[in-house]
Amino acid sequence: GLVAFASILQTIYPNLFVQNFAIAVCILTFYVLIQKPEDAIDPQLEVFNSKSFAKVLDMNHRRNTEYTLIVCHIEDARLINQMLGTAKMDLILKNIAAFLENTSKQCVFYLGSSTFVITVYSGRNESFRLLQTIEKRFEKPWSAGENSISVSIRLMDIQLPDDIQSISDVYNYIDYLKELDNRQKWIVSARNVNLQDKRRNIEIEQCTRRALDEHNFEMYYQPIYNVHTGKIESAEALIRLRDPEFGFISPADFIPLAERTGLILRIGDFITSSIFCFMKNNDLQTFGIKYIEMNLSVIQCMQESFAHDFISKIEEYGIKPEMLNLEITETAAVNSPKILTKNITSLNRRGLSFSLDDFGTGYSNIRSLLDLPTDIIKFDKSMIDTATTDENGRLVMKSSIVMAKNLGKHIVAEGIETEEQIKLFTAMGCDYFQGYYFSRPLPAQDFLSFVRKFNFRDVYNANNA
Ligand code: C2E
Ligand code: CA
Ligand code: CA
Repeated sequence: GLVAFASILQTIYPNLFVQNFAIAVCILTFYVLIQKPEDAIDPQLEVFNSKSFAKVLDMNHRRNTEYTLIVCHIEDARLINQMLGTAKMDLILKNIAAFLENTSKQCVFYLGSSTFVITVYSGRNESFRLLQTIEKRFEKPWSAGENSISVSIRLMDIQLPDDIQSISDVYNYIDYLKELDNRQKWIVSARNVNLQDKRRNIEIEQCTRRALDEHNFEMYYQPIYNVHTGKIESAEALIRLRDPEFGFISPADFIPLAERTGLILRIGDFITSSIFCFMKNNDLQTFGIKYIEMNLSVIQCMQESFAHDFISKIEEYGIKPEMLNLEITETAAVNSPKILTKNITSLNRRGLSFSLDDFGTGYSNIRSLLDLPTDIIKFDKSMIDTATTDENGRLVMKSSIVMAKNLGKHIVAEGIETEEQIKLFTAMGCDYFQGYYFSRPLPAQDFLSFVRKFNFRDVYNANNA
């Protein structure tokens, strides 16, 4: 634009030599923008950074270049950090970076999280030799000031383009290497790794994003039966995702992924809006429903403004707080950071009640029972199943019920499927049942029809007679 403008100006005023000046300015701007070394290089380790790596990957992929990536992941970086401090760890990483560069005579990239990658263009034999040299060097300690410390490394070779289906596979392999546990081998070849799960995760993430944009989510409701009154008195709201291409995807698969990617916050907004709409548009109390249980993700509860936003939304929809019960998992409760406890306490003060979900699947059960203001304990299906079939399991269940009752909690037994379980757990003192024995989770309107029939069955039977 600038050059065009200058050209026109110079045509009109031939004595003004602005065209060359404009070209010079443009070249200088390009130079400053493109050649900014700190954009391409890790300032601490003085090797290329992850941004440069992404560019090289992309360029090689487009040219279909044959080469090898050697991934080096420093195993005990966290421990060394704790022991010697960040400054010493940086020094060790710097020494390692220099060693990798000198030995390989190739480009070395630092991707963060103690992971280096080397691009090797000189054939498979050379990459094999390099792997062995690196492994051998790590048998000796590294110096960090006056300290000398052994560092373990994990290595992987990825042959491109043969080992990948798409560029994201490179990152999948790197994640795989980082997640390996200590018992596994130190040198791994990408061709021996099955990425099926990782690739499926990418599909699930895409479906989740699409579901948010194209409204493929729906809330279902699973009836919860009160043992003392013989009526359906509440329901757990459970999310469903039906993708037009991949079909039904279980929340057990997409919720944990959404928590990792942060998408859970947008999903959480959909869940609250959908449940509140349902509660606003139907007078649930006339059906005998006293409250709806809603699952909360830890990530949601850890947002600074969660309690405040949630209360505003309740007021906006005109929902009575006592008609909502929020489920938090035992793991979340046990590891509860301050902010989670703060959010829960302020919501509790506003009249919302809480359930402790998945009880029996984690650890430190008793502590979590005491610490948070939960009215209801939901015994997990796995605990119910063990108690159904195993004498010891039954003993554990019995004493847990006694303990929970002594603390003034109500008990929901989840995953109830048989008559036998109904008898067993009624005798043990459970207050509520939830499970396929009564009903699977149902779409909103089906749920209401089910509850109407169930709770007013006497009226129904009398009418039919
Ligand atoms: P959860 O909170 O423990 O939910 C109970 C799960 O047990 C549900 O699975 C329900 O369909 C299933 N279930 C209930 N009764 C029976 C039974 O008799 N037999 C068997 N085999 N299963 C039964 P679902 O809906 O697939 O949800 C799985 C998990 O996904 C949930 O476990 C929860 O952790 C998460 N989730 C589901 N909906 C939401 C949601 O709206 N928000 C959040 N944050 N998480 C959700
Ligand atoms: Ca739940
Ligand atoms: Ca549960």
